[in-house]
Amino acid sequence: KARSPRATFILAVDVGTTSMRCHIYDKEASVRGSCSTKVNVLHPQPGWVEMDPEEIWRGFVAVVKGALQDSGLHAKQMAALGISTQRGTFTTWDRRTGVPFHNFIGWQDLRAAQLVQRWNRSCTMKLVHGVMKLLHLLTRQKRFLAASLVVFSTQHVTFRLLWALRHHVRHAVLDDNCCFGTIDTWLVFRLTNGALQNAVEPHVTSILRPALLQMCWSGFLCALVSLPLSIFPSVQDTGHHFGLTAPAIFGAPIPITCMADQQAAMFGECCFDTGDLKITMGTGTFMDINTGSKPHTSVAGLYPLVGWKMGPELVYLAEGNAADTGTAIKWAQELELFSDVRDTEAMASSVDNSDGVCFVPSFSGLQAPLNDPRACAAFMGLKPSTNKCHLVRSILESVAFRNKQLYDIMLRETRIPITKIRADGGVCTNNFIMQMTADLLGKKVERPSHFDMSSLGAAFMAGLAVGFWKSPEELKKLRCTDTVFIPQAELGTYRPLLRGWEQALRRSMCWYD
Ligand code: ADP
Repeated sequence: KARSPRATFILAVDVGTTSMRCHIYDKEASVRGSCSTKVNVLHPQPGWVEMDPEEIWRGFVAVVKGALQDSGLHAKQMAALGISTQRGTFTTWDRRTGVPFHNFIGWQDLRAAQLVQRWNRSCTMKLVHGVMKLLHLLTRQKRFLAASLVVFSTQHVTFRLLWALRHHVRHAVLDDNCCFGTIDTWLVFRLTNGALQNAVEPHVTSILRPALLQMCWSGFLCALVSLPLSIFPSVQDTGHHFGLTAPAIFGAPIPITCMADQQAAMFGECCFDTGDLKITMGTGTFMDINTGSKPHTSVAGLYPLVGWKMGPELVYLAEGNAADTGTAIKWAQELELFSDVRDTEAMASSVDNSDGVCFVPSFSGLQAPLNDPRACAAFMGLKPSTNKCHLVRSILESVAFRNKQLYDIMLRETRIPITKIRADGGVCTNNFIMQMTADLLGKKVERPSHFDMSSLGAAFMAGLAVGFWKSPEELKKLRCTDTVFIPQAELGTYRPLLRGWEQALRRSMCWYD
């Protein structure tokens, strides 16, 4: 039910890896006020990626206040708040005080690489794989084949969490005083004064967080790797009332009714039907396909996850990702290959090709289908004739090539006819990448007019939960397309380039042992 006749706006915050953005939407999904701030990513050691929780908290409060001020509206006019954050970034904190035991450990962090490697080579994993292979031989069921090939990766929270428990929180776990959560879970804990009141559950999370395909934590998996179930938050539906923000924070309580991640971008893109696909290109690339009411079992390393559950409807997605998209572009900027990211498009187009240079975007390993956390980032094929424009072009090409690679696995594995392709995220403003992606995929790729889709999707989900919007059909009418990129070049013209780039990827694999 709507909160009050005057509560006619929805607040949404997207806590990304590059920046944190807050938008206020009206009934037509038009932005009425915005505010953003930079997210400071820390690298205390090579391969480590952290964020300071207090800084995230201050940034969150500041962008919400900033957006309210920008819109000239008051917190009491907000019908709901939706939050979208990074699924694989987490911290642990003191159940009584809410004080974190350590910084957020980011989804690109490689500190658990050795632990992951030891596990993947362990007798337990060999045994599990052997049993699954046998079951596949006996039953011919694909899920057993997939299970027989499963390997852990550093992007999964599991081993980074084990690392944190061992190094920071052993005692708190023994005292049953430790909570685990992603950024949104911890923010909601703080926003609702979770540690001080019993008004809401002490810590909450949405079903969207982990691959909780059965909508509960896997006791078997936790036992297998010795993770204590007691630290996990409760699992809730997508449109759940997670609590009210404490009135003192924004001047009036606001109901928090959505926590999400890539699913929010999917929702913002209105990819509600089976076969709808979206590509979010921000710090990393996240390609998601709607697989309908069935979770997808992947052999190549696509990640099955719950898209959303609203009422009885449970929608599943399959996700493929590339960890270093914006990361690579930002790195090149810091290296002064260019001063403004907007220049990259013109630089790439100013040369006919990359001079044979291939860029391997692997600061945090290579994800599906190669699944190698030990791959190194690299420029290959450098020549005395190579200039900055060639280097920039090779970086942009690598983003489009990764899109093609992920898209091909989705087609091959899910066998679901793709109905539409929509792209969003900061990098989708780059026309060179967008056109090349459309060429390589051989399909139209749509770019929305408001490309902050995670934020819009979190607003849509939060708004549906309080009856602000009534149905997905209503939402479809609110989403606007800005540009449609139509394939212009034959895939054949790219084949030699693609082959060369794939060869560069293979050469960069297993670099770190
Ligand atoms: P996140 O949500 O992960 O914080 P964003 O969606 O905000 O990321 O995207 C930020 C990234 O987009 C940055 O790395 C930035 O360099 C990149 N970016 C922004 N505009 C462009 C552009 N025109 N061309 C290429 N990259 C861009």
